[in-house]
Amino acid sequence: MGINLELEILKFNGTVLERPLVMAGPCSAESEEQVIETARQLHKNGIKIFRAGIWKPRTRPNTFEGVGTRGLPWLRRVKKEFGMLTAIEVANVKHVYDSLKAGIDILWIGARTTANPFSVQEIADSLKGVDIPVMVKNPVNPDTELWIGALERINNAGIKKIAAIHRGFSTYNKTEYRNSPQWEIPIELRRRIPDLPIITDPSHICGNKELLLEVSQRSIDLNFDGLMIETHINPEKALSDAAQQITPEELKTLLNKLILRKSNIENALLLTTLEELRQEIDNFDDKLLDILNSRMAISRKIGEYKKKHNITILQASRWDELLKRSIKLAGKKGLSEEFITKVFKAIHQESINHQTKVMNK
Ligand code: PEP
Ligand code: MN
Repeated sequence: MGINLELEILKFNGTVLERPLVMAGPCSAESEEQVIETARQLHKNGIKIFRAGIWKPRTRPNTFEGVGTRGLPWLRRVKKEFGMLTAIEVANVKHVYDSLKAGIDILWIGARTTANPFSVQEIADSLKGVDIPVMVKNPVNPDTELWIGALERINNAGIKKIAAIHRGFSTYNKTEYRNSPQWEIPIELRRRIPDLPIITDPSHICGNKELLLEVSQRSIDLNFDGLMIETHINPEKALSDAAQQITPEELKTLLNKLILRKSNIENALLLTTLEELRQEIDNFDDKLLDILNSRMAISRKIGEYKKKHNITILQASRWDELLKRSIKLAGKKGLSEEFITKVFKAIHQESINHQTKVMNK
C-alpha cells in the first residue's frame, strides 16, 4: 500500500522551513488573552506555527475539557495579527468541520484517537477533497502498525501533506518519562516511510520541563524533522499539563541550546572513516547472526532431548540463572542491565519457539 506524500508540511508560504520545524503554543487555549499573548511572544521569537488544544481529551471527566469552538476565533486572530500558521487537534468529524470553517491551517490527530481505527477512518472520510496538512500522533500503545495504519487511512483519503508526531507511549510502570519515548518505533517508521516528516513532541514524552532539552536534542541527533513544544505565558497556572509547559522565553533559551547536526556527509575523509566503521559494524552483525543461528541449533537439539524424555520446555530456574549470569557478565563489559535483559528475553523466547516446533513436529 505505502504512502504517497508531498512534503509541503515543511514549507511556509511556499518556502521550505528551517529545520527543526518548531511548533509551539499552549496545551490548551484557555482565554483569548492567553492565546494572543502566547502567540505574540512566540512570534517575536521567530516561531511560525502556533499549536493549541481546543477540545482536550482528558483522562478523567469533570476536569477542564477545553474551551471548545468559542476558542476558534482566537486562533483566527493569531493567524491574522501575527501571520502564524495555526494547528489544532481534531478527534471527530465535528471538530474537522469546525476547524475548516475557522480557517485552521494544520490538523493533528491525538494519540488516543490514533489508537481507534474507526475514529481515524471517520476523520479521513470527512477530509476527502480537502487540501490541508494532517499530522498523526503515535497511538498511546507502542504499535508501529497501528500508527502506519492511521497514516495510510489519512493518505488514502487524498491527503498528501502528512507528518507523524512522536509523543511517546504509555507504560504501566512509572518511568522518568510521562510517556516512554521508545525511539526504536519512530526509527522503524522512518525506515518504513523514509520521506515522511517526523515531528517529536518532547512535552508529552517528558511530562516535565527538566528533560525537554535532552529529548529535543535526541530528536535532532536522530535527524527527525521538527519539534512540537507546549508553551504557556504562565505555565504554573495552566489548566492542563502545567508541569510540562514552558514560557516563550524558556523555549527560546532551549532552542538556542540545541546543537544542530547535518544529515548529509559532504566531506570525503569523514565519509571514508564512517564507511570503514560501518563496515566493521556489518562484520560484527554478520557474526552476531551466525552466533544466533548456532545457538538456535543447540536449542533445537535440547528440544529433541526434552521431547524424548517428556520434559517441559520452560525450566524457570534455568532461565532465571541464565539471565542473572548474563547480566553479571555484561555488567563487567560495560553493557547495561536493561539492554542485556531485553536481548536475552528475545533470545530465550525465540529458543522456546524453536523448541515448541521441535516438540510438536
Ligand atoms: C496535546 O497535544 O495536548 C495532547 C493531548 O497530546 P496527546 O494526544 O499526545 O496526548
Ligand atoms: Mn498537552
